[in-house]
Amino acid sequence: MANPNNKNQSTDRRTKGKKQFKIVIQGGGKNPRGAMWRNFLSTILLILAVLILYSAITEGRSKNPQISISELAQNISAGEISKITVEGSKLTADYSDGVVKESKKESDIALSETLVNYGVTAEELRAVELDIKEQSGFVFWLVTLSPIILPLLFIIFFLWFLSRQVKGAGMQAFTFGQSKARMISPTDKKQRVTFKDVAGVKEAKQELLEIVDFLRNPKKFLDIGAQIPKGVILMGAPGTGKTLLARAVAGEAGVAFFSISGSEFVEMFVGVGASRVRDLFQLAKKAAPAIVFVDEIDAVGRVRGIGAGGGNDEREQTLNQILVEMDGFEPNEKVIVMAATNRPDVLDPALLRPGRFDRRVILDLPDRSDREEILNIHARKKPFAEDVDLKVIAERTPGFSGADLYSLMNEGAILAARENRTKVSQYDFIRSIEKVMLGPERKSHILSKKEKEITAYHEAGHALVASVLPYADPVHKISIVARGRAGGYTLNLPIEDRRLQSKNEFLDDIAMALGGYVAEREVFGDTTTGPSNDLQVSTAIARDMVTKYGMSPKMGPVALEGQDGKMLFGRGVPDRDYSERVSAEIDAEVSRIIKEALDRAAEVITGHRPLLDAIAQRLIEVETLEREEFENILIAGGITPKKKKDIEHQG
Ligand code: ADP
Ligand code: ZN
Ligand code: MG
Repeated sequence: MANPNNKNQSTDRRTKGKKQFKIVIQGGGKNPRGAMWRNFLSTILLILAVLILYSAITEGRSKNPQISISELAQNISAGEISKITVEGSKLTADYSDGVVKESKKESDIALSETLVNYGVTAEELRAVELDIKEQSGFVFWLVTLSPIILPLLFIIFFLWFLSRQVKGAGMQAFTFGQSKARMISPTDKKQRVTFKDVAGVKEAKQELLEIVDFLRNPKKFLDIGAQIPKGVILMGAPGTGKTLLARAVAGEAGVAFFSISGSEFVEMFVGVGASRVRDLFQLAKKAAPAIVFVDEIDAVGRVRGIGAGGGNDEREQTLNQILVEMDGFEPNEKVIVMAATNRPDVLDPALLRPGRFDRRVILDLPDRSDREEILNIHARKKPFAEDVDLKVIAERTPGFSGADLYSLMNEGAILAARENRTKVSQYDFIRSIEKVMLGPERKSHILSKKEKEITAYHEAGHALVASVLPYADPVHKISIVARGRAGGYTLNLPIEDRRLQSKNEFLDDIAMALGGYVAEREVFGDTTTGPSNDLQVSTAIARDMVTKYGMSPKMGPVALEGQDGKMLFGRGVPDRDYSERVSAEIDAEVSRIIKEALDRAAEVITGHRPLLDAIAQRLIEVETLEREEFENILIAGGITPKKKKDIEHQG
């Protein structure tokens, strides 16, 4: 049996595929990689420039010919030189015939002394005009000090470079602390999502309209002294569009949207999560008005203090940092924090306190008309064949979330493309329903003849019981083709969406779940491992009837277990506050309910044995029975198929 509410689809695939540019920030809030490189390059350039200048000075600028000091001495003795200019160690000699030549001497010895050593006499020297110039101050110092200053500059630059790295990351060297936030800027038309892109969830949209209004026109609210909530938490089952709706709020308001997922905070190094929070908020405040969105906040926001495995300091610090940042907001900062979770029951109460995430917005699974609307949204860009009727698809998909519907549409298009058609037909979508619900068909899973027979009788048993008992949902499809983990399945769907389930419906559901087991037992005198999931389902329903819904006359209308149990060691355990005696009574009641349902299923199956054989035989032949053909078999066997008006659902 396939229960549409029991599927667990992974939902977030498609958001991952979308392009979102990553920004990485550091303490300063500037883009650090770019700045780092720019700094680095400019420093290198500066050093090069200094080096060039230095060599230009030391090499000398002049084009005058160089002569050795001994040649100069000879020329002086010969009386060819009229004037010598001394600049540090540099000598410039003006010859009588107008030629200018240059030479060098040791810098700390007087020129006259040097020349005397080379054999120039005092008289000869006196004939030459000597002009001793001080070196120009700057050049002198540069030349003298650059060998010391250059390495020093290098070291200082390096220290500064390193310290910049360390600072931003809260003492995490290099880049661990950068917030991994993704930002969608208000000017980004391609990624912009508005309320028009979100179908259904009308109450949630209504509630969020106030936030949009504030972000659009904060002055109006601030002037009148109104306090706008700092935090909004979106709660709802996976795939109900929490992430989408948060983005739509930013899109509607035209503000920047920063998003980070709870699990991204938690990484190997303690303290990183907290510093990421800090980075993220700093960035958002710069871009205000803005929305900071913490997706899947239950990853960090679980009840503190009972973490398994010695507690989780990292998570607590990250959570604390979020709370600190939220408390530190001034109302005029125009930053609103949104968060999403599908486990509101495990959240730390500190998060939900007034002044933090005190606005709670609940997203429900879509009802029939919402589903149609969602299908229409995702149908926008797909070419449809004429026979497509999304209303029928919406009717057939109770319990589907928005994300399921999205993937249904997608699977349909994939099927059409694989078969080289240019338009998607209704049949593609019908096939996709089951694929999304149960996983792909496993045609390769070949059953032996005996196995096939057992599976056929098993599914026929479910289908027969569902068709005979008055409160069970009508059968839409039976198949003995393996799908996902199920060997075969019987798909029975409610005629209308419903919010309330009655005791009679539960009892018939249990009987139907046991129909496969009973059929195997009656036909083959033996049972297999096939019904193990059926037994789990039926036992769980029976147990809930007794402990949650007060549907056992013996126990009376008492709720013995909470809706979701409490959290212990990071896992949900049933919330049990009753004695051993009550516990034994519960077990007895559960057994009684199961036993009675088993008897009713057996009654149906033995009472309609020829019909059971007919269904099973047909299944062995064709492997899959659609609703119409199945109902024809029922009619031939003397049973009227259920029609819309036969079952009255309340609520
Ligand atoms: P959640 O965050 O609640 O798990 P998402 O927002 O990630 O769900 O939804 C996943 C996808 O499902 C969305 O990108 C969108 O394509 C589709 N979807 C979900 N709910 C809706 C909705 N109400 N209207 C339109 N599309 C939806
Ligand atoms: Zn079964
Ligand atoms: Mg999400």
